[in-house]
Parts: sequence; structure tokens; C-alpha cells
Amino acid sequence: MSETTQQARQPGTPGAGLLELDDVSVTYRIAAGEVPAVRGVSLTLGSGSALGIAGESGSGKSTLAMALLRLLPKDARIGGRILLDGEDVLAMKWGRLRAVRWAGASIVFQGAQHGLNPVRRIGDQIAEPLLVHDLARPEAARKRVAELLDQVGLPAWRARSYPHELSGGQRQRVMIAMALACAPKLIIADEPTTALDVMVQAQVLTLIKELVAEHGISLIMISHDLSVLADVCDRLAVMYAGRVIEHGPSAEVFHAARHPYSRALAAAFPTVGDPASRMAPRGLGGDPPDPMRLPGGCSFHPRCPVALDGCASLDVELWPAGPDRTAACVHVREKEEAS
Ligand code: ADP
Ligand code: MG
Repeated sequence: MSETTQQARQPGTPGAGLLELDDVSVTYRIAAGEVPAVRGVSLTLGSGSALGIAGESGSGKSTLAMALLRLLPKDARIGGRILLDGEDVLAMKWGRLRAVRWAGASIVFQGAQHGLNPVRRIGDQIAEPLLVHDLARPEAARKRVAELLDQVGLPAWRARSYPHELSGGQRQRVMIAMALACAPKLIIADEPTTALDVMVQAQVLTLIKELVAEHGISLIMISHDLSVLADVCDRLAVMYAGRVIEHGPSAEVFHAARHPYSRALAAAFPTVGDPASRMAPRGLGGDPPDPMRLPGGCSFHPRCPVALDGCASLDVELWPAGPDRTAACVHVREKEEAS
């Protein structure tokens, strides 16, 4: 094991999570007004654990992911508190933030193609952060590239290939190797398999699962597909209109969701990578709301199959929904209050 890997395994502040979000909000300011894309999200991620963030397109998942490393455009205002290994991300100076982005946490984005430079060999691209940050000399970096390629299931000679010589799945493996290069404590994977076909998607998911377990890396995985997340993650948070509306252990949220929106999502994606339901949830009528025109009360009430009259005016907060889980629904609150 390399020295950098050992460093990455040191636990953070005892008793605290690796990542703690406290009432995080993100508002984009555009010409037409304010877009409240993320609203009051509080979550904790333990060292070495995997958290899935689910929700339809537009629910604020990518905005939240980018906020974690302050990768948002200038017109975005972040509120609340983000602690990474006990350090306040929103208070970090630029130099510290850059170091953290390389060595503390890495993001694998959707559509690996766009993350790679088409005119540079992939070995050079994987080695770049190691060289730029003085983590390795050229010879050691070459060895590390071969090691990383091996870890993601690619032969060492692929270091000499250009991105266009690889398949979509292979390019995504290269992106994962790049994310692993500096031995981060946290990897954020934003829809890492959405652009891939079903077989390749399953292979890449298995790879991510094995790597995080083997290296003790914490993972935040984002997808619109609840079945994909339930397969990989310990805990799931379901987002709707910028808020977390359900949070709990994966299997429970996937198989016995308490919020009607989570139930609809789980029913829409019954099996991992089901091609028929990959892009839009089946069986869920209507569209997610425009954040600039959120319905009053519970944001989900216009689409909710079990909405009560009061839901148009009552916005229920996350409520305990069993051991270690919460859900923001009036039915949950009534049932829990009655028991
Ligand atoms: P998801 O990743 O869940 O699909 P996003 O975080 O991309 O959701 O988007 C959340 C909301 O924020 C959407 O309504 C989207 O239109 C809006 N949004 C995203 N990026 C910007 C931006 N740069 N400027 C203004 N609005 C944005
Ligand atoms: Mg997104």
C-alpha cells in the first residue's frame, strides 16, 4: 500500500462523520430571479460508508454535489455549513480548497467523454495530478498509472491510448482511475453510469462498489435510479424539489419507502439498469416542479396519490420514520404520533 493510501485511511475527528451537511441551501441568481435549487439539506456521511442521493432530474442532486467542493458557478449562493473531515469547506481559502479537491475528495461526473482531453494519452491524464501536486516523480507516477489502470480493470498498455480509442465503459473506468489517483477519502460519483448501456453499467457499478470497500473510501453516489443506489450504498437520501424528503438505510428506503415519492421512485426502477425505465420514472404522473414556482405546502402534493386536503398548505419537516430513518410526509407524522 502506498503512503498516500495510508494517509487517506486515517480516520477523521473521532465521533464525527467524514462529511457533515447542516442546513445546506443553494440559490442560483439569474436574470429572471432566484432559483432555490437546494433547500435546507442536513446529512452525515460516516468514514468508509456510501450514501446514495436519488431524485428525478432537476431535484438538486448535482447542485448539492458541486456545493460540497464549491464547484458552483459565481451566481450561486451557498448557505448552511459543510464540514469535510471537521474542516469548514465554505470557510476554506482557495489554496486549501484546491488541495482538498485533489487529495481529499474527487468527483466522477456523468458522461466520462467530456472529462477527458481528446488529444492527450490517458496515462498522461491520470498521472497529471500526481505530478502537479508533487505526489510522485515521473517514474513513480508511471508505475502508479499502471497500478490504477489495473485497479479499474484495464491493461497497463492502455496508458498510451487516446480517449477516442476506448469504449464508453472504458472511458468511465479511466475517470474512476483519475478519481482514485490521489487516494481521496471521498469520491462523489454523479450519475456515473447513466450514459452507459445496461451490461457495462452493471460492470462499472460493481467496480465502484469493490474499490470503495477495498480502499475504505467514502462514497456519495447520485442517480435518478433508486435500484442502482440501493445496490451500492448503505444509506439513501431521496431529494424532491431541492429538499431531502426521505433518508434511511438503503434496503429499507428501497423496499419499504415511507414517503409516497420514494415509493413511486422505487416502483419506477424495480431492477438495476432496467433499460425501459432508465430515463424517466414510470408510473409517476406529472413533472417535478420548477424551483421558481414551487407549490405551497408539501412540494409533492400536486403529484401525490395519497395527498390530503391539508397538504396544499402544510409543509411537513423530516420526521422520525423508524430507527435511523426519517421522512417528510404528513402520513408518516400522523402514524408515528399515534404509535
Ligand atoms: P439534478 O442534478 O437533480 O438534475 P440540478 O442540481 O442540476 O438537478 O438542478 C436543480 C435545479 O437548479 C434545476 O431546476 C435547474 O434548472 C437549476 N439549475 C441548475 N444549474 C443552474 C444554473 N447554473 N443556473 C440556474 N439554475 C440552475
Ligand atoms: Mg444532475
